Amino acid sequence: MTTRGCPYNCDFCCVTDLFGKKIRHIPVENVVRDIVEARTKNFMFLDDNIIGHPKYAKELFKAISPLKINWVGQASISLVKDTELMELAAASGCKSLFFGLESVSEDQLKQFRKAISDIGQLEQALQKIKKMGILIHASMIFGFDNDSKAVFNETVKFLKKNKISTVSFNVLTPYPGTKTYNDLKNEGRLLTANWKYYDHNTVVFQPKNMTPWELQLGKTTARKKFYNPSSVFSRLFGNLYSPRLYLALNYGHMKQSQVEMKRIGKLKSEFFDLL
Ligand code: SF4
Repeated sequence: MTTRGCPYNCDFCCVTDLFGKKIRHIPVENVVRDIVEARTKNFMFLDDNIIGHPKYAKELFKAISPLKINWVGQASISLVKDTELMELAAASGCKSLFFGLESVSEDQLKQFRKAISDIGQLEQALQKIKKMGILIHASMIFGFDNDSKAVFNETVKFLKKNKISTVSFNVLTPYPGTKTYNDLKNEGRLLTANWKYYDHNTVVFQPKNMTPWELQLGKTTARKKFYNPSSVFSRLFGNLYSPRLYLALNYGHMKQSQVEMKRIGKLKSEFFDLL
């Protein structure tokens, strides 16, 4: 982890509460030293946004390029607005990036104040990243107040069309301290205070346009559709620059999706039927 802090304080996210608004960095030379001493070639940067401070990120990418490592990390989609930064990331060994896309609804994207909120521009941005040979992991969230029951199919359609490598399908989770939590609490829409269910996978609030169970089932089914074998096969053709990593990651996600399908019956009887 090279960086902590995030100035954006998004409504649903606890990072600013946990790590503060001011971005702080570990000196680049210390990161290089840690990488050399780790004696491995494969790394995951856990920064919430590895390009949050582009000047620092460029210095870091230049410094680690000679080490010939492979790395994965998290970044904002604004990466595509800086070609030099994108090229430096790829040259430094970046193989896959996690992007918090959250939604493919333009209304919702505008509310997030994202760097890119137009769907056409978002598709172009995703293609630019692919051209750099970087696999895309998209993180999606279901359950915003704008979401209707159509959101599940629309989202899966977008992700398949753009041949996204891998996706995390989450339900909106109102962490204490966030605006989302305060709003839902004030509106009397929280269903439980049992923190074991606040896990990104279980619906713990009353959605606006569907029942909690419809949201739960919609999210689980979207994941299943995205990771079914024919979807994995068809998306491979958009990820041929890194086929082994693509297939390994999809195999892992496919297995997790199967575990979730098995769990959902237990969750219904243990939690939703008692609401
Ligand atoms: S979602 Fe991303 S940009 Fe928003 S506060 Fe969290 S880390 Fe920062």
